[in-house]
Amino acid sequence: MKVAVEGCCHGELDKIYESIQFLEKKDNVKVDLLLCCGDFQAVRNEADMICMAVPIKYRQMQTFYKYYSGEKKASVLTIFIGGNHEASNHLQELPYGGWVAPNIYYLGYAGVVKYRGVRIGGLSGIFKPHDYRKGHFEYPPYNQQTMRSAYHVRNIEVFKLKQVRNISAVHVIHIVM
Ligand SMILES: [Zn+2]
Repeated sequence: MKVAVEGCCHGELDKIYESIQFLEKKDNVKVDLLLCCGDFQAVRNEADMICMAVPIKYRQMQTFYKYYSGEKKASVLTIFIGGNHEASNHLQELPYGGWVAPNIYYLGYAGVVKYRGVRIGGLSGIFKPHDYRKGHFEYPPYNQQTMRSAYHVRNIEVFKLKQVRNISAVHVIHIVM
């Protein structure tokens, strides 16, 4: 199985799928799965955009909405986790993960899936010690604090992943840059 791995996506889905298609042609291969390691920016509309903790100049619609509306379809199965620049309201609707568009799957705060015999585990968000032991108390409309703490990792999510036995798995984590 061929797996493509993308760091931050920042909503650039058109470019990512085009690059994969280019490489598939060039190297005569077929990519079976794309893993996106956070900052996916599943922005459906303008209301989602204002829930994203980024400076105003970076608030751009980008291209996810096309895949959400059905105008385009992801050319390869895509699995992603959340990072620290997300439409937090959208991802909070799917705490246990789920399909955000055809062929695009969110792993939730913490999730494990199996695809063609490969187990893939993911943990969304970033670590901030002051929120680690809290519950998920945030809800929209967010203020400047909750817009950020919404994506801080909680120990309950780490605990859940620690229950997984047989740890031969691919781990998806967000690296803050
Ligand atoms: Zn990023």
